[in-house]
Amino acid sequence: MHHEARHRYDVVVIGGGHAGIEAAAASARMGMRTLLITMNLQNIGQMSCNPAIGGIAKGQIVREIDALGGVMGLVTDRAAVQYRMLNRSKGPAMWSPRAQCDRMRYAWEARKELERIERLHFRQDTVTELLISGDRVRGVRTLLGGEFGAEAVVLTAGTFLNGILHVGERQLRGGRAGDPAALGLTEFLVRLGFEAGRFKTGTPPRIDGRSVDFAPMLEQPGDPDPRPFSFLHDRVLIERQLSCWITYTSARVHAILREGFDRSPMFTGRIQGRGPRYCPSIEDKIHRFADRERHQLFLEPEGWDTTEMYLNGFSTSLPEEVQVRALRQIPGLERARLLRPGYAIEYDYFPPHQLTPSLETKRIEGLFFAGQINGTTGYEEAAAQGLMAGINAARRVQGREPLILGRDQAYIGVLIDDLVSKGTDEPYRMFTSRAEFRTLLRQDNADLRLTPIGREIGLVDETRWSRFEVRRRMIDAFSEALQALRARPEDLNGWLESRGSAPIRQPTSARNLLTRPELALRDLAEALPGLGRLLREVPPEVAEQVEIQIKYAGYIEKERELAEKARRLEELRIPPDFDFDRIPALSAEAREKLKRVRPRSIGQAARISGVSPADVSVLLVYLGR
Ligand code: FAD
Repeated sequence: MHHEARHRYDVVVIGGGHAGIEAAAASARMGMRTLLITMNLQNIGQMSCNPAIGGIAKGQIVREIDALGGVMGLVTDRAAVQYRMLNRSKGPAMWSPRAQCDRMRYAWEARKELERIERLHFRQDTVTELLISGDRVRGVRTLLGGEFGAEAVVLTAGTFLNGILHVGERQLRGGRAGDPAALGLTEFLVRLGFEAGRFKTGTPPRIDGRSVDFAPMLEQPGDPDPRPFSFLHDRVLIERQLSCWITYTSARVHAILREGFDRSPMFTGRIQGRGPRYCPSIEDKIHRFADRERHQLFLEPEGWDTTEMYLNGFSTSLPEEVQVRALRQIPGLERARLLRPGYAIEYDYFPPHQLTPSLETKRIEGLFFAGQINGTTGYEEAAAQGLMAGINAARRVQGREPLILGRDQAYIGVLIDDLVSKGTDEPYRMFTSRAEFRTLLRQDNADLRLTPIGREIGLVDETRWSRFEVRRRMIDAFSEALQALRARPEDLNGWLESRGSAPIRQPTSARNLLTRPELALRDLAEALPGLGRLLREVPPEVAEQVEIQIKYAGYIEKERELAEKARRLEELRIPPDFDFDRIPALSAEAREKLKRVRPRSIGQAARISGVSPADVSVLLVYLGR
């Protein structure tokens, strides 16, 4: 097959979801003439499920995307209605920012952000085929018969490929409620030799807020000191926040839901695809945790200008009539009017062992996959992959080496390494527990970790860079000032005693005192007037950054050492065409997995499930180390 497409681009991005947005923005900002083709231009940035960004481990990812020069953090700040820092009571490695968003505004702001980018063009259409010559991608062909040539193509089709929606016994084709499915592309890719699979996910019903009685629910307001997502913002852009509301299911609710199980596509076997274990439907929850008497639900606003509300925790594909009857047993929802029923969706995905760590497919050069089609769930996971695929598509066109983030550099690195090395047999979502170096990968230092990298690859503009440099200088200066500021025993020991902290015997630096777990920076300022003055001169994020670096220095150092050791294994490269059949001592399972994944290094090989430490030793010997 050889084609001369009429329109020529450097990079074509298919899909305007959270992955496609980042891919298109990154590629165009890196100087590529970029085309974003999506099925409906009005739905760019649509939040298919919950109107919220961030949360545990996902919030860290959004901060990383922002630090690299991506879009999601900026758009979130422009669309937020409420901010919460989750896990505040735990150590800073666990702090995870989350923002409730205005659904319509999010989509609108995402589109506005993209339209600011000069080299980015848009087209509403559905891609049905790729233009291929040999094993290289040359562009795309659309339903309307358009042909668009490209050096690199990023596919981010989300839940749309052969999507089927389920509500009870009803089924319809669709990419999500209100959107058609994308047909033809999976079959095209399978003909090229790609392996496809089937996953499912679900969403809860939406409720008319005017029909809700909030009195029996627990109000959950936003944080009193909300912090923005983007490093470009000093403070959040909203003056007031909307609340969420907490309520619970009960044994009666569960009994009603159970009545519908024989008509639930989940239990009748009609849904074949595997669902997300960590975002289960309500029927899944009462089935798997039969002894639990109630489950917590969050009733969340969908935006400033709408009464629509989202019932987080009540994802379901039961018949609508059962959904309504069960809802009306929930405190506060006795008279609830349904706006949209919950439903489940099944869609095609491509098992991600078919990708290299740059997210390029191994089979077709220049073709990148990102987002939900790689077997992940969640906007943030999708956006992270989109960003990296967009960056690497651009770098490929520029003839540069791909950018691959390490597991010790970013959650984004953990995410992609997990996908390409371990694959996934259920929808993958990020957790802090997936990162072995999570003390290094905090939300507060995402810019220190990644903005210099974003600058180097041409994604971080002058504004972001100069803000970053100011912040970095302030952090260094504040840190040095804490070292220079000394307290004398006679001035401090009384106060230390009142705090149950051991007295000092000689003049001691504020920095040194802060290593004591019982002393916080803000408290110490009470006793050290010089510190109070210093604190008033820096933004709270700067003081907090330095405090974390001091208090957790031991853990941070230890993780750095471990990361360094792990890095050495990453540097032991396995040639791309290495013949694993030549090593008889490998276990059969390891050989099969190694041939499937084709790891780039000993480090990556060691993370493949089924490759044992003994297999790794064999590899090391064979590769001559
Ligand atoms: P999407 O946001 O799905 O965007 C895909 C884009 O590609 C769309 O713009 C579409 O128009 C376009 N497109 C597709 N095919 C073509 C084509 N051939 N040509 C041109 N354009 C094309 N995540 C969770 O974390 N938890 C949940 O509980 C959860 N529940 C969900 C429930 C439902 C019903 C749905 C639909 C999704 C749910 N998600 C959930 C997933 C979340 O929506 C996705 O993870 C996220 O939106 C994926 O982003 P994406 O960019 O990969 O794809």
